[in-house]
Amino acid sequence: RTAHFPQVKTLEDFNLDHLPSLRRDVLAHLATTTFVAKAENVILLGPPGIGKTHLAIGLGVKACHAGYSVLFDTASNWIARLSAAHHAGQLEAELKKIRRYKLIIVDEVGYIPFDQDAANLFFQLVASRYEQGSIMVTSNLPFGRWGETFSDDVVAAAMIDRLVHHAEVLTLTGDSYRTRQRRELLAKD
Ligand code: ADP
Ligand code: MG
Repeated sequence: RTAHFPQVKTLEDFNLDHLPSLRRDVLAHLATTTFVAKAENVILLGPPGIGKTHLAIGLGVKACHAGYSVLFDTASNWIARLSAAHHAGQLEAELKKIRRYKLIIVDEVGYIPFDQDAANLFFQLVASRYEQGSIMVTSNLPFGRWGETFSDDVVAAAMIDRLVHHAEVLTLTGDSYRTRQRRELLAKD
């Protein structure tokens, strides 16, 4: 069940006490992976270091264990893949291939801005999975700023509309876990 997770992270390793903005009942529900069976999406929004990638991998691991095929990659790599397929005249075939995965995880939307072609490709990815397969997206930007990263407000709005129609949107707030660990280390001296 090719997942390509960049690190080994599990939900069991995730310390919920550090993240009061994350509702435990919502996370527990997502961990059952019924959202994958229903082709629903999960959007994790929040500042750097809050635990988005960790949660995305942890939920992806749950989906793998439940028997679903999962594919994880960064937004930039997804775009690169779609772009290569597009230039080879194979975009439809590639989107079809990607639809074989019940869950795809798109990490780090927002760090690197996309040009209009990339935004259109990403829109097509979202549209091709609409009500057919799950997408999990992490982003440091609130939806209101996705127009900046996709250099097109109209495309961003249409994409968000499809993404959130059947989705759990988790907006995480608080301190970076990395910063907190550093502070706690320093406090020990
Ligand atoms: P983000 O993707 O939001 O920038 P990460 O998920 O990469 O953040 O988290 C940064 C680091 O802190 C990772 O090593 C992650 O495993 C760890 N981490 C973040 N939040 C928690 C948490 N609540 N419990 C345990 N580890 C955490
Ligand atoms: Mg991350």
